[in-house]
Amino acid sequence: MTIRQLPDTLINQIAAGEVVERPAAALKELIENALDAQAQHIEIDLENGGRTLLQIRDDGVGITRDELPLALSRHATSKLPTDSLDDLQHLGFRGEALPSIAAVSRLTLTSRTRDSDSAWTLHVAGGKVGAIAPASHPPGTTVQVADLFYATPARLKFLKTDQTEYSACKDVVLRMAMAAPHVGFRLRHNGSLILNLPSATLADTPEIQHTARILSLLGQDFIDNAIAVDLVRDDTRLHGYAGLPTYNKGNATAQYLFVNGRAVRDRVLQGALRAAYADVLPADRHAYAVLYLTLPPAKVDVNVHPAKAEVRFQDAQHVRGLIVGGLRDVLRNAGPRTATTLGHGTLQSFRPGVSQPMAAPSFAFSAPLQAHLDVALPPQAATITPFQPMESAVTPQETSHPLGAALAHIHATYIVAQTSDGIVLIDAHAAHERLTYEKMKDQLAATGIVRQALLTPEIVQLDEARCAELLQHQDLLRGMGIEIESFGAGAILVRALPAEMKPESLKSLFADICDALEDGKATDPIEQRLMYRLATAACHGSVRAGRPLNGAEMNALLRQMEATPLSSQCNHGRPTHIALSLHDIERLFARR
Ligand code: ADP
Ligand code: MG
Repeated sequence: MTIRQLPDTLINQIAAGEVVERPAAALKELIENALDAQAQHIEIDLENGGRTLLQIRDDGVGITRDELPLALSRHATSKLPTDSLDDLQHLGFRGEALPSIAAVSRLTLTSRTRDSDSAWTLHVAGGKVGAIAPASHPPGTTVQVADLFYATPARLKFLKTDQTEYSACKDVVLRMAMAAPHVGFRLRHNGSLILNLPSATLADTPEIQHTARILSLLGQDFIDNAIAVDLVRDDTRLHGYAGLPTYNKGNATAQYLFVNGRAVRDRVLQGALRAAYADVLPADRHAYAVLYLTLPPAKVDVNVHPAKAEVRFQDAQHVRGLIVGGLRDVLRNAGPRTATTLGHGTLQSFRPGVSQPMAAPSFAFSAPLQAHLDVALPPQAATITPFQPMESAVTPQETSHPLGAALAHIHATYIVAQTSDGIVLIDAHAAHERLTYEKMKDQLAATGIVRQALLTPEIVQLDEARCAELLQHQDLLRGMGIEIESFGAGAILVRALPAEMKPESLKSLFADICDALEDGKATDPIEQRLMYRLATAACHGSVRAGRPLNGAEMNALLRQMEATPLSSQCNHGRPTHIALSLHDIERLFARR
């Protein structure tokens, strides 16, 4: 066995494995270079998902003739003038991207500096650098990458379909464009124009620039269904938009996170976002978010990953605290708001003969609700509880409440209310669940959950392991209003329960509690998980039992919802109310 120094081309091909694992990764590096070069406009042309061609043209500072070969050699960078990694002013700093990409593709680098009247070009194929030649090019730089990975067939085999690679490229452009609204972007794929984003008006504040860019990329629906966020804690700021809980998605692809202007996919941030929404979203749904985190560069290390997609925070707890605590407050203060798309979807289901899919994003469980609406309230449906007398019920004061004046409790489930500009449908059971949960949370924070002794203690039989688990958490449970004792093998004795609670079955309640205790993956503290179970159990047997509510009860419920943070979604993250504006209803009857 002989040890030898590897040739440069091979070293670069090995590095390419980490830095550019697919066309989108190469694209990200090249856009970063253009941004670092102070480009104002960036034109991107892709062919076949970027596999056969990636071309990035910018109007930045350019590269001098003499420096062209340097730009293509490993560990050569213009971005670390002080030899220090502590104060990075640019997106790049590793001096790796161009040589790595050049080692595995046919790359042409053409550039002209702003004060020069001639352009120069250099071609590299599979790492072999050609001769510098004169070229014609306006000030700025074009990097053309053809046949990425042709020189490393093993890697080539791992590429997905053109469509998949294209989607990944588009996602990169989207993220970079959100990070840099002051820069214009144009994206073409196989010759057709995909995105054409003008640069922001420089006179606008950065916030307005960001909003304009987000609007053009994510659309009015997102802005309508998001809450503007601007939070500062010490030297750290979080701004952008957080989606309403009921406007959500089945995966986390609509979470756009930025740290000091850099698009990142960072575990700390993703985890914090999940935790912030944990209380208002079902576990399999994900929030929409565009969030920009700004903190002193010395407090975040971007040099932890070759593709610079992950970062390390000096004080991750501080960052997490700002996001979790801050966003929870923002969501609590959002008032009674559910996704506007829910109302639009509901209208669709009313329309005769129109079976368009609901505007995204939608809820899989909207079906039962739609089924109720589809019956068009036949008069013989027995359980309509009118609020008598109807006319006097609807006073202007009452309709001016966000959730309006209650008119009827239909099918012993939904409340119909009139607002100043439309109607609201309320899922009374879902709302009640949330109100109970919030009440128990408040109690726990203030005085501890109010406990009520059972007249006769009850015995619950569970398997031994579960009994042991429960007894281990005896103190925790007492704090939550539940008093239990050991009752021999395979049973526990229940002495007291939270005052709010009248569970249908103690056995299933304690099975649920055991699940909550075992639920190791959850991001939330154990108390919260438990309380969630308790509150859900607490509701069974109350409104769920289907007792029609009278007018005063209905209105009391609505007023309580308005006063209770987070009551726009039930404990499972489903919406508790859907608003239809008069405008929408008029459209429904073709009056508009
Ligand atoms: P890094 O960005 O980490 O410095 P790269 O390999 O991506 O490493 O680029 C090497 C160097 O080439 C950069 O430091 C920069 O000086 C120059 N360069 C690359 N792309 C451009 C561009 N679009 N405009 C101007 N200079 C560029
Ligand atoms: Mg770079």
